[in-house]
Amino acid sequence: MIINSRLLSRLIATATALALIPASLQATGRLIQLGTLSSLVQGVYDGSMPMDTVQRPEGFGLGTFEHLDGEMLVIDGVVYRVAVDGKVNKPSADSMIPFACVSVLDDADVNEEIGAAASKAELEKLLKAKLPSLNYPSLIVIEGEFDMMTTRSVPAQQKPYPTLVEVVAEGQKVFELGAQKGTIVAFYCPSSFAGLNAPGFHFHFLNEARDAGGHVLELALKNGTLQIQTLTSYQLILPPLESAFAGSDLEPAEAPAKVQGE
Ligand SMILES: [Zn+2]
Repeated sequence: MIINSRLLSRLIATATALALIPASLQATGRLIQLGTLSSLVQGVYDGSMPMDTVQRPEGFGLGTFEHLDGEMLVIDGVVYRVAVDGKVNKPSADSMIPFACVSVLDDADVNEEIGAAASKAELEKLLKAKLPSLNYPSLIVIEGEFDMMTTRSVPAQQKPYPTLVEVVAEGQKVFELGAQKGTIVAFYCPSSFAGLNAPGFHFHFLNEARDAGGHVLELALKNGTLQIQTLTSYQLILPPLESAFAGSDLEPAEAPAKVQGE
């Protein structure tokens, strides 16, 4: 994508707006999100935001790439792409992306050893009990040994883009990775974030050798260290007006219920 002067000026305006956020809000617990999950689910896969927005020092994050071309992990500020053939690479810095979340573990509320969890559902139950509050989004990082890990990635899509449900049903590639050592980067979002992000837990995994991973479908955790950062500040960066996002019909057929008394 060519960055024209209008887009460039908007990016500079975003950077300026960031500089205006008080240091107290920037210091800890800020979820930075590019794009909305509902637009991704409805098939807006154009990469309309630059990857360096999520490539921050010590950042941890997840997302996807232009045309839905693979699963993204950000670990310690390094962006990795798990492609549909299972290979892991570091995408070039000028990659453009449609959706991603990133934050930093600058003041972790939880930093402790955790024991076994026989399944993803069991790990979610364990994490729910550890989250300081279910009413905030949280960044969760687990460095662990896993008895079993099953992940997936998705292939690049062409226009007219199918919906995410159609891609997952027809095109996702599942990787049975077996026993692995590695890093889970996850976000928890309260149900009030539905539409903007994924309510509940969203796990991505990359192994220690940095040669396998993806979006987690199932796992068995043997043991590991758990870090949780509660995110009390939320910055949503939307694609510029020149992007496909602007012209897409993203309104639900039925309008959400209005606040009573409005
Ligand atoms: Zn995912």
